[in-house]
Amino acid sequence: MWYKKLHWQIVIGLILGLIYGLISSVTGLNDFTTEFIKPFGTIFITLLKLIAVPLVLASLVAGVASLNDTTKLSRMGGKTVLIYLCTTIFAVTIGLLAVNLIKPGNSLPEQTRIDLQAQYSGAIESRSESAQEVMNRGKLDILVDLVPENFFAAATENANMLQIVFVAILLGIGIIYMGGEKGAFLVKVFDSFNDVIIVIVDLIMKTAPYGVFALMAGLIVDLAGDDLGKAIALLVALGNYSITLLIALILHVLLVYSSMFKFFSKNMKLSTFFKAIRPAMLLGFSTSSSSATLPVTMERVEKNLGVDEEVSSFVLPVGATINMDGTSCYQAVAAVFIAQALGLDLTLAQQLMIVLTATAASIGAAGVPGAGIVMLVVVLESIQVPAAGIALILGVDRILDMCRTTVNITGDAAVSYVVAATEGKLHEPELED
Ligand code: ASP
Repeated sequence: MWYKKLHWQIVIGLILGLIYGLISSVTGLNDFTTEFIKPFGTIFITLLKLIAVPLVLASLVAGVASLNDTTKLSRMGGKTVLIYLCTTIFAVTIGLLAVNLIKPGNSLPEQTRIDLQAQYSGAIESRSESAQEVMNRGKLDILVDLVPENFFAAATENANMLQIVFVAILLGIGIIYMGGEKGAFLVKVFDSFNDVIIVIVDLIMKTAPYGVFALMAGLIVDLAGDDLGKAIALLVALGNYSITLLIALILHVLLVYSSMFKFFSKNMKLSTFFKAIRPAMLLGFSTSSSSATLPVTMERVEKNLGVDEEVSSFVLPVGATINMDGTSCYQAVAAVFIAQALGLDLTLAQQLMIVLTATAASIGAAGVPGAGIVMLVVVLESIQVPAAGIALILGVDRILDMCRTTVNITGDAAVSYVVAATEGKLHEPELED
């Protein structure tokens, strides 16, 4: 039966959650939903986050330690970062082309602009402050931050994923150099640890339809708290902007990921690729968080796409932190939209600046809900567009965050497939569904 398949159950959970959320706000059940339904969504995301660090550590140590020489690792690392950079630049370019051709900002009525700016002016401050902190940092701080001074401190924050990746690689390399019986023993330990975590991911995913239901219900109630009607009215007012972004995101997936996949896959159909990662995409959509979705992305990519763990355990955690094509595309569209709406003409040099800053800002954004809009402030400042302009798009950001996160996750999966194909690390997928 089709509805027994996990991805359909997640879709059903998602739709029922939306419908329930709407009914709950119409019938005044919001308090009940917030108190008794929403927490299950929170528990579901927390469970996924809980296993992210142990999963990355175990699978990456086992993956690195099983490589016989470290040159392979540096080759794979270089290739991964390069492909990530290229896809991000493509995403920004597609976003820029779409927003310059469609010009959604020109159609925003003057009155809507004034209302939006008045309504959201307060909410901008905290975002600007967070962005200011990022801008005040040194050029090489991103490198300095890679190295944690205390492993346990690093492991307590999912935002420190790159530090965990660093420690895991170091430990893996240590095991390669140590070698012998002791080395083999450690590889076995990490391997088994990794296997048990995969079993736990499976268990958690069994609850995904309920988790997603609760997440969506909670989200609708939260939005309705500030007046769902208003949010929908906003979505309509900002319809051209939202549609421009959606077109750009879809184009990016169709042009860049699909052709990349087609070029490198020998016998797998494109539809199989999307089917394989569908639960991860749906989860990205419902959680708006690449980091929270990571365990599921890893599982699907390994089992259903046949990407070797050696590749996925490195490419995916790094991708969840630095590769955000959906986010960079969004930043390009949003920045130009705001400039258009404020009647500012952007020069070619400014548009090129967006390519640079949106690429960097998406790398710097964490894989959590709303990270993209904080980093958008950085992009706006670099092209001298007032950061206060984010007031125009704040109201619909949560919904668009869901869409861009789905693209972020799809990008990580596609790149891991390509890296595996070029490294000869693809095998027959274990599972069809
Ligand atoms: N929510 C996105 C992610 O986790 C980041 C963003 O806000 O764009 O991938």
